[in-house]
Amino acid sequence: MIPKTRKEKSKESGKTFQTPKGMHDVLPGDQPYWDRIERVVRDLAEFYNFARIRTPILEFAELFQRTAGEETDIVRKEMYVFKTKGGDVVTLRPEGTAAVARAYLEHSLGRMSQPQRLFYIEPMFRYENPQAGRYRQHSQAGFEVLGGSNDPIYDAQIITMFQRLLETLRIKNTNLKINSIGCRVCRPLYRRQLQTYYKTHEKDLCSDCVGRLKQNPLRLLDCKEDSCGRLKERVPNVLDKLCSTCSEHFKTVLEYLDELQLPYTLDNQLVRGLDYYNRTVFEISVEGKGSEVGALPGGGRYDYLMELLGGHLTPAVGGACGVDRLVAVMKAQEIKIGERLSQRVFVAHAGELAKKKCLKLVEELRKANIGASEALARESLKAQLKAADRDGAPIALILGQKEIYEDGVIIRDLRSGLQETVPLHRIIDEVRKRLRDKNVVEVTPIHD
Ligand code: AMP
Repeated sequence: MIPKTRKEKSKESGKTFQTPKGMHDVLPGDQPYWDRIERVVRDLAEFYNFARIRTPILEFAELFQRTAGEETDIVRKEMYVFKTKGGDVVTLRPEGTAAVARAYLEHSLGRMSQPQRLFYIEPMFRYENPQAGRYRQHSQAGFEVLGGSNDPIYDAQIITMFQRLLETLRIKNTNLKINSIGCRVCRPLYRRQLQTYYKTHEKDLCSDCVGRLKQNPLRLLDCKEDSCGRLKERVPNVLDKLCSTCSEHFKTVLEYLDELQLPYTLDNQLVRGLDYYNRTVFEISVEGKGSEVGALPGGGRYDYLMELLGGHLTPAVGGACGVDRLVAVMKAQEIKIGERLSQRVFVAHAGELAKKKCLKLVEELRKANIGASEALARESLKAQLKAADRDGAPIALILGQKEIYEDGVIIRDLRSGLQETVPLHRIIDEVRKRLRDKNVVEVTPIHD
């Protein structure tokens, strides 16, 4: 009987198993991109003195309701909220900053040297409408500076780190947009101006924005509906309404960026999708190939967030970048990942007795900390050497009947095809030497 295909079987059972909508597998073919990004993030963190923090995937839902803001899309529509058996209302974490701030307070990190520089690479969950660069599960790499003073140098450093991240990954055509959304002193004034402006266009607003107009008019600038988007073009300019302290702060951030020769565009409609920001907000996207994914890094200053969580006023600034989006842009821009030459040797056999000996040889290599791969289940030597080729190993060790009698091993350079027989007791030293001589460990430059 011909076995049924997966499609036929699932048709019968009425169920095809696949990832839930908006979630995706990262298959081995994409892993080099993820590895590279994580390596660059970790290297940048080390260079700029950021320590890693890991927070739970589940948090109390209220943490985000209070901080991100009741009127934001994240809180209104996108959180995966549920009740535990114990009755707690928890959520899959939709973003990292509030969780890091919670940890800062919970563990009194404010008593340690200030500011605390922290970073994370973690999955986030948002029940969004999936589209290019927008997933329900995605990973974010974030850098946060918490505590100390609200010196604009920190704003500039955070932006610089993200710019360096993109540069090191060789992402081209980046566009840094920056804005300041003021503080408690000047923002109420701007809110009133926004309300007045939008009230005269109320009939063109989407129903969500009509509701937001009273409570939180700044959110209207973040609305993704076309009709609301068109109205943004003529909104009053927030930069004209900043108080002198916010103005000075913003001017200094821009001066630092100028000093570092980081080009930027002022965007007075940029507010980002979270309520906790004050003063500086920024995002970096690409133009042309890869632009469809939207913002890569994004973030800003959040000096009032700790207060919202019951702590003291604590200056802080940070940002996060979607890792899935970085991968998509790298592919769209055809960025090659420096291929890592394998440091493994491939072990092949010819004959049953040799197969047994090879099994032992693989274990000896492992003990000596030398990577080894094999296809011992294949009988033909040709098939095994083909597998070696696919594996990318530079060296093969081949054992046949003759070698067993001579107590030797063939060592074959898979690039040149040259081979010689080496006594078995010298094989580990010989492999080490050859791997070293061939310099097979490619060092991929991180700070290009
Ligand atoms: P946010 O927490 O909204 O400021 O987002 C920070 C960054 O995470 C964004 O600039 C994106 O690069 C990324 N990001 C946010 N939401 C998603 C999503 N649904 N899918 C993929 N990446 C996302």
